Amino acid sequence: MEKREQLYEGKAKKVFATDDSGLVVVSYKDDATAFNGLKKGTIAGKGAINNRVTNHLMRLLEAQGVPTHFVRELNGRETLVRRVSIVPLEVIVRNIAAGSLSKRLGLPEGAKLSQTVLEFCYKDDALGDPMVNRYHIAAMGWATQEEMDLICRYSLKVNQVLSAYLKDLGIELIDFKLEFGKTAEGAIVLADEISPDTCRFWDSATHEKLDKDRFRRDLGGVEDAYHEILKRLMGE
Ligand code: 5GP
Repeated sequence: MEKREQLYEGKAKKVFATDDSGLVVVSYKDDATAFNGLKKGTIAGKGAINNRVTNHLMRLLEAQGVPTHFVRELNGRETLVRRVSIVPLEVIVRNIAAGSLSKRLGLPEGAKLSQTVLEFCYKDDALGDPMVNRYHIAAMGWATQEEMDLICRYSLKVNQVLSAYLKDLGIELIDFKLEFGKTAEGAIVLADEISPDTCRFWDSATHEKLDKDRFRRDLGGVEDAYHEILKRLMGE
């Protein structure tokens, strides 16, 4: 496998073509942004940690029956993944009220939701990723009803598998964001990353935040939190 030209550069990752048209290389950056790019910074070591954490969790999910884009880790910050066309939605899964849900509904952060909440946002930076529902998604043709049924089923399965796995490591999975892609064959697979950038992880005992909220909210100890997650997941 040979790495070729850069296809795309996002806020946290770059994507490169390979000599196989069905495969691309994802390269994780240390750059951090928040509030739709308004806040910018660097988190030393973040790229490598997010690469390893994502791949560890993707392997776990594959073993539990959730199809993903993961193929193999190439090095510290690069991974080979299946080429997909990204469904232009952020799927947000919530177990505990926090962040924008707390703000929108006036719920204290940390309030347990009586059941898991799924939200969808249309991926569009210029519009600020507006929340949409399944009627908007169908009307705009972003995904079919069948694809959305699958996306919801996979998202709830990811929540079940990760919540149980992280609980044993003393981590509470508050909420997280997923993205899905469609392969050339038309299969829906989990794509993007699952990392402290895209999840809220709270220490089960102390409720200390071990995720990107430390950067977003200037809480300090950002690098330490990312390292702590790596250590709990991979034992190092
Ligand atoms: P909220 O809507 O409360 O800001 O975010 C809910 C969850 O989804 C959090 O775990 C947050 O990290 C994740 N999330 C939502 N939107 C984004 C986004 O645009 N980028 C990243 N990295 N995570 C997001």
